[in-house]
Amino acid sequence: MKKVLTIGEVLVEIVATTKGNGFLTEQPLVGPFPSGAPAIFIDQLGKLETPCAIVSRVGNDDFGQLNINRLIADGVDVSAIAIAEGECTASAFVRYQEDGNRAFIFNIKESACGTLDKTAEYDALVECCDHLHVMGSALFSPNTRALVMEAAARIKQRGGSVSFDPNIREEMLNEPGIRAALDDVVSLTDVFMPSVNELFMFTQSACEQDAVPELLQRGIGTIVLKRGADGASCFTRQGRWDAAPLAVTEIDPTGAGDSFGGAFLSFWLAGAAPEVALRYANAAGARAVTRLGPMEGTSNRQELDAFLHEMKG
Ligand code: ATP
Ligand code: MG
Repeated sequence: MKKVLTIGEVLVEIVATTKGNGFLTEQPLVGPFPSGAPAIFIDQLGKLETPCAIVSRVGNDDFGQLNINRLIADGVDVSAIAIAEGECTASAFVRYQEDGNRAFIFNIKESACGTLDKTAEYDALVECCDHLHVMGSALFSPNTRALVMEAAARIKQRGGSVSFDPNIREEMLNEPGIRAALDDVVSLTDVFMPSVNELFMFTQSACEQDAVPELLQRGIGTIVLKRGADGASCFTRQGRWDAAPLAVTEIDPTGAGDSFGGAFLSFWLAGAAPEVALRYANAAGARAVTRLGPMEGTSNRQELDAFLHEMKG
């Protein structure tokens, strides 16, 4: 079976149980929850029993251990999560506003994962993995950008494949080096998994109808478009498939895209037909929003089958 590698932030998320604007007044909180977009993505792959690993860095503290314990329990190879003595694991405080937008206070760049180094464990994984998943949010530091680009080049050179979820906050685009790194990643991408607004970050065209063929012509074999509560679509040079949204009550939308991506890739790597991979990914994303906590909504195969049965999806 093919083994998947991802690189990037591992953090805890602490969530306000009230809705409103930010953290200027005292708020009741729940958490810490294991989190970080690359971590949620790889956890979803682990739960579907696809061999997988993450390169990251945490502090020698409970927040780091909580994440490592969860990833191990769900089947992820954590050999390349370095434990940095005297540093802190990344964290995010989150509060939802009434309109569903989120206010975050992040401690990521200044935390242990802000200075990911090249290690012997990283090298060993780049040598043995068959696929790299690039999470745009992980390109926040020059260190991770260098590690991601090296891994992508080495894995592609050996005949492996690359998937890419832009998953990037607007403000990150202004940082020097990010734009070029994103363009480099796109040129190596086999499976592209944007949200609708992210589809146009790499195209001349500003409408879906033109942007999709433009990207397919550039050499991306598979495009999976995430439409939030409107479901998802998959495009290849052979055709187009759509997944209608499954009707769920949204409790916490964080992590839906990462769970969706992990599920799609698990089926794609196993050689499933696009409509099958899309159906399971759509279910993984919908099921994820029904659970509080970013990584709490990842699913194993039995849970996805039961959920699809219940939803008649
Ligand atoms: P994030 O980066 O915040 O995790 P995203 O934009 O990458 O989000 P979404 O489009 O929000 O990803 O969600 C991914 C997929 O999960 C959707 O394409 C859809 O299949 C499913 N999904 C998400 N939200 C819902 C919902 N409210 N109801 C049903 N399905 C949903
Ligand atoms: Mg996303």
